[in-house]
Amino acid sequence: MNYMKCKKCGEKAVIKMRQHKLALCKPHFLEWIPEQTERFIKKYAMFSRHEKILVAVSGGKDSLSLWDVLWRLGYSVDGVYIHLGVDGGVNYSAVSEKYAAEFAHSRALGLQVVNVPQIYGATVPELAESTSRGQGRACSVCGLVKRHIMNQVAYDGNYQVLVTGHNLDDEAAALFGNTITWSTEMLQRQGVVLKEAPGFARKTKPFCRFYERETAAYALLSGIPYIYDECPFSIGSKSLYYKDVLNRLEEENPGIKLNFYLGFLRARECGFIPQKDVSPERYAQRCPICNQPTTTDGLCSFCRLVSRE
Ligand code: AMP
Ligand code: ZN
Ligand code: ZN
Repeated sequence: MNYMKCKKCGEKAVIKMRQHKLALCKPHFLEWIPEQTERFIKKYAMFSRHEKILVAVSGGKDSLSLWDVLWRLGYSVDGVYIHLGVDGGVNYSAVSEKYAAEFAHSRALGLQVVNVPQIYGATVPELAESTSRGQGRACSVCGLVKRHIMNQVAYDGNYQVLVTGHNLDDEAAALFGNTITWSTEMLQRQGVVLKEAPGFARKTKPFCRFYERETAAYALLSGIPYIYDECPFSIGSKSLYYKDVLNRLEEENPGIKLNFYLGFLRARECGFIPQKDVSPERYAQRCPICNQPTTTDGLCSFCRLVSRE
């Protein structure tokens, strides 16, 4: 029969990863993802089995697959879901929360839910409306809110490590955006591991070398229900546009996305981009409301946002 064969066993393959010249059947693909994840965790010295890990889960395929894989690999991982109050005509935040909660329940894992409108009296789109962050402000306000809450939950819960489900498509698109605008500060922050600093857990992205289609395939093949919709506010965003551009390049040049990102990581290792300063002096100043380290005088940008000053 003329079908694509699994490289490991010769049975029918369900996925071909052209950038690795690798086709795998379902059981071997479901083995390959955790094996590779473990390899990345070691290679980039992300964390160990003795550390307490917090995974930020959005209810999407990446973060739920990541939680599943880390759990299967025997890491100690709890989850946090941030309800941002996004409706978008599809009840986006409530539906995403349902997927995150169902996943946690099915595996008896701990999930903390932080409900932004309940705590701060406004949804993220409302907070975005009240600022002057300019075009794309919903996404930039959302990013600020998520970062702040993830940091806070990790710190309050004594987690040494905070992990997110960013995949290679996310990272390559961010790298593309940061390069095309030469945002050096953003490039500095864009490593695989952002070291712990006073007041902050170490941050890392164990799935940063998997293509989005691989994390989607993992979720589907392992039967993890997740929210298919993109956030309604991301439609038409720069990052989706950059993903599309990179996918068009990838179509004709298998592996170009991966090499773009890995080349950046190597350049970083060689000192092409200076490492972020994590010395204690830089974190000496604290926000009087939330006590998170801040580089600005007075309230941190999150507390300024929610107090709508
Ligand atoms: P995004 O910023 O939407 O591309 O998502 C990147 C990663 O951030 C996801 O893989 C999750 O790990 C995390 N994340 C996104 N949205 C949420 C959320 N509402 N609550 C918790 N974590 C989230
Ligand atoms: Zn096989
Ligand atoms: Zn603050």
